[in-house]
Amino acid sequence: MMQIIDTHCHLDDERLIGQVDALIARARELSVTKIINVGVNTPTNEKAIELADKYEECFAVIGFHPADIKLITDESFDVLREQAKHEKVLAIGEVGLDYHWMEDPEDVQIAAFKKFIELSIELDLPLVIHIRSKKNDDAALVDAYELLKQYPKARGVMHSFAGDVVWLEKFLELGYYVSFSGVVTFKNAPVTQEVAKAVPMDRFIVETDAPYLTPVPHRGETNEPGYTYYTAQKIADLKEITLEEVAAATSANAEKLFKI
Ligand SMILES: [Zn+2]
Repeated sequence: MMQIIDTHCHLDDERLIGQVDALIARARELSVTKIINVGVNTPTNEKAIELADKYEECFAVIGFHPADIKLITDESFDVLREQAKHEKVLAIGEVGLDYHWMEDPEDVQIAAFKKFIELSIELDLPLVIHIRSKKNDDAALVDAYELLKQYPKARGVMHSFAGDVVWLEKFLELGYYVSFSGVVTFKNAPVTQEVAKAVPMDRFIVETDAPYLTPVPHRGETNEPGYTYYTAQKIADLKEITLEEVAAATSANAEKLFKI
């Protein structure tokens, strides 16, 4: 049976949280059998763990989104260490750099990202990395690359990867996986489609980032885990292979990366 894994979503979002049972059932109809909820701060980390406790299909990733690092307190890292003992906590994320929203200056974001990278190494967990640049500017990718290069023991995935093929090669060289969201289905995303064509079969995974980044043909609606199916289908079309091959490769990659 075909299996697709939504490696990144936010079911804690108010648009989704009231209908998790239905979302999981609909996901299963579209062959999406595992769902990884990614926290962005303390309450959402707790929620991701709660969902993992309640639903067999759900797993959790815990961390602080770069737009939320103001919420980090003295206890935050000890709380993360405690939460990471949970068997369904798979990774540290989403963490990284966001120069689009720029809630904190670059140096503050880099310092926080550094701490999360070090935490992931300490806990031997992969990273789920969010990198967002300003329009027409690669500064966030440059800074992330320079930082990750200093940590050969770190591993993880570049979530909803927004770099071009040159950046793809750089992060692949460092050993990172690359994840595709609904963006790859957008007409106005030729660069991401080029990256999808170029990414090797053993290094890419898929996600929704639900409720955001809804793929075609549901663009404009609230995204949900089952729609990972459409992203996988689009990548199959771009790579001129079958959906089954994309499902098999991305599931094997996710299972290896996250040890599920
Ligand atoms: Zn996210």
